[in-house]
Amino acid sequence: MEKDCLFCKIESGEIPVDKVYEDDDLFVIKDITPQSPVHLLIIPKKHISTLLELKEEEKDLIGSIFMVANSMAKENGIDKDGFRVVANCNRGAGQSVFHIHFHLLGGREMGWPPG
Ligand code: AMP
Ligand code: ZN
Repeated sequence: MEKDCLFCKIESGEIPVDKVYEDDDLFVIKDITPQSPVHLLIIPKKHISTLLELKEEEKDLIGSIFMVANSMAKENGIDKDGFRVVANCNRGAGQSVFHIHFHLLGGREMGWPPG
């Protein structure tokens, strides 16, 4: 728990937000500024500021994130047409909240390469 961190505050309930999914290690919320018809954020409960701070012991957590992305994609009906899981690392890549999170985007055609 990092005191000035938006996602830590959401995790603790200090900022109330509907959680679409929650387990012991992570939770999922709808992005407040959706970039596609389905835009969810998969967020570990543990405060890790960027992907660069990931440790060996967090390997299982990262596996769980992709398993949840898999089930959320199916639940939201974006599995067949396709979806994208995106993690921005540092400002140049578009990271604005420094508590790691994975965007699950789908429901429209995606361009490549990303902007
Ligand atoms: P990033 O820019 O990759 O760090 O992603 C941060 C995401 O958090 C952005 O897509 C924001 O729209 C989203 N976001 C910021 N504040 C909130 C909030 N209160 N609830 C849900 N999503 C948020
Ligand atoms: Zn945090």
